[in-house]
Amino acid sequence: MKRILVTGGGGFIGSHLVEALLARGHEVLCLENFFTGNKANIAHLLGQPRFELIRHDVVEPILLEVDQVYNLACPASPVHYQYNPVKTVKTNVLGTLNMLGLAKRVKARILQASTSEVYGDPQVHPQTEDYWGHVNPIGLRSCYDEGKRLAETLMFDYHRSNGVDIRVARIFNTYGPRMAVNDGRVVSNFVVQALLGQPITVYGQGQQTRSFCYISDMVAGLMALMEAEGFTGPVNLGNPHEFTILELAQKVVEMTGSKSAIIHAPLPPDDPVQRRPDISLATTRLSWYPRVDLAQGLAQTIADFRQRLAQD
Ligand code: NAD
Ligand code: UDP
Repeated sequence: MKRILVTGGGGFIGSHLVEALLARGHEVLCLENFFTGNKANIAHLLGQPRFELIRHDVVEPILLEVDQVYNLACPASPVHYQYNPVKTVKTNVLGTLNMLGLAKRVKARILQASTSEVYGDPQVHPQTEDYWGHVNPIGLRSCYDEGKRLAETLMFDYHRSNGVDIRVARIFNTYGPRMAVNDGRVVSNFVVQALLGQPITVYGQGQQTRSFCYISDMVAGLMALMEAEGFTGPVNLGNPHEFTILELAQKVVEMTGSKSAIIHAPLPPDDPVQRRPDISLATTRLSWYPRVDLAQGLAQTIADFRQRLAQD
């Protein structure tokens, strides 16, 4: 049994990860400022003796004694990370610095939740880990993209200079139950719109592509990377099945039985045209690959949103 810190543990991916770690018998400390996280995501864990919730902002240093750190704290939806972009930079840079300082002090292994956004609007397709990316340094997405890139830089400098035991996961679009109703990312937006009978807002012509990974696969990948010996990454974690956004909209309408119309809204600036992970490295080094396809994952996600919207 290990003592494991999960920053952002009250968020979408974090809360599923916390559950999986508790199920493996670990002690879990969840560090949260509840910017985009939700107490409801972890309410059912509060009474458990091996679970502890710490309200704290990663931008501020903290002293804790742990064996492992999963650093997930950071708003992930463009709507939320652009709300206060300077804060997003601080969370990625100062937050990661603080967590690396903690890991160094107590000799903990630390995993950074990086992102496919480090590849920007990629000119290499599918994206492999050796691609350096195509990122606008001054655009609306830069606070997140460059923030995550600098977080990776810090991870590798602490590793080289201080021997910190690091793991870097480049997470591609992940979806599933517990995404916030107001999250603003595409899967949750489309599912909510379809269930409420509102128009489905496809940005641009919907020909841009994404590859959607179901949450249980992502949690398994993150844990496999943390447990892998002698492998820092960076490693892509995602589902390589690529869809256009228009295809996703049509699939959601079909699966919900919704009467919602599909409408087109302006494409946000710097929206990546295509994205698909090459997961050869994860498959080879971690024996990991996604098992849940889009239809199965969407069915679970739609059922969860249906239930929550009915409660509201
Ligand atoms: P999320 O917004 O649901 O979760 C992020 C959590 O971090 C929230 O609970 C939020 O309250 C917390 N947080 C934010 N700033 C904080 C701060 N300064 N101090 C403490 N807590 C803070 O998003 P998610 O989808 O669960 O993403 C989790 C991590 O995975 C993020 O680092 C994100 O960048 C990364 N990621 C996610 C995806 C995806 O598709 N879901 C893709 C790439 C990378
Ligand atoms: N998108 C869309 N309608 C929405 C929300 C998003 O068409 O209501 C598009 C968005 O422009 C992008 C894709 O869906 O091309 C994925 O967007 P998301 O915000 O989920 O993630 P990211 O752009 O960071 O991959």
